[in-house]
Amino acid sequence: MAFVDLIGQSESIQRLEKSIYENRLSHAYLFFGPAGVGKRTAALALAKRLLCERPQEIKSCGPCSACLKVEKGVHPDLRLVAVEENSIKIDLIREIQNWLAIIPFEANRKVVIFDHAEKISRGAANALLKTLEEPPSHALMILVAPAVQSILPTVASRCQKIPFRSLTPEELMEGLKRLSLYDAQIDSIVPWAQGSLGKAIQLKNQMEEVTALTDGFFSFQKFRSERVALIEKIFKERENWEWCYDVIALMIRKQIIKEEKGFEWMDALGEFYRALELNVAPRIAIERFFYRVEQGGVRV
Ligand SMILES: [Zn+2]
Repeated sequence: MAFVDLIGQSESIQRLEKSIYENRLSHAYLFFGPAGVGKRTAALALAKRLLCERPQEIKSCGPCSACLKVEKGVHPDLRLVAVEENSIKIDLIREIQNWLAIIPFEANRKVVIFDHAEKISRGAANALLKTLEEPPSHALMILVAPAVQSILPTVASRCQKIPFRSLTPEELMEGLKRLSLYDAQIDSIVPWAQGSLGKAIQLKNQMEEVTALTDGFFSFQKFRSERVALIEKIFKERENWEWCYDVIALMIRKQIIKEEKGFEWMDALGEFYRALELNVAPRIAIERFFYRVEQGGVRV
């Protein structure tokens, strides 16, 4: 990861690059913004640049052993603090503080990234304050969180705040193209990704699963009970309903082209969706869907 790998966020990245160039980096940063828009990637890119053995002005070199170690997550002067049991506890903060207090092993700096810093417990945050107030000269702490307000104010006030915003549809398209997605996949994902590349990637995987399941749904070799189970699986998560509906509607439209009686399916699907909106359990809504389709004389 490097700053050039980031999609969008140019203002924030330029701010960081300017600080690197002028050698005026702060000891503590708070990268805040929605999920999946590049905060963690930017934190790792900054760490890589600072630990790199042959940096080129604002860029890390890429092939040096420090850069490779950062890529593999094994650099001894970098700690990526992850959430354990839904929080970052005081013992872990104390351990990090002890680690930070020792001079760097290989580089000139030590970098610690707190991913999901909003999960730092109150006691742990108060302990962290001490280090934020008097950081060792080699220390760089990057807190990554969804919002400034999700961090204890006394902690947030000691960090330089770098905002990360939702990506525009064009930026999302660019990001998905870099991941070698097809145009048709990109078009179906972007409207549902809420400006988050992370969400888009998650959707891509889910959509592939749903498309496979929906293929199964239209397989007449399958028993009806199997197909009910498939649809139930598709609609498991409430937040997925809208785009699942879109994927299924698309499959049904394809079926309409193949079969003359497909239009009843669209009617039945509309009723199915209204039932979901009214919080009818997906299983009951599915049974009604089959009933309607059978009434319309479609073989299911
Ligand atoms: Zn390097």
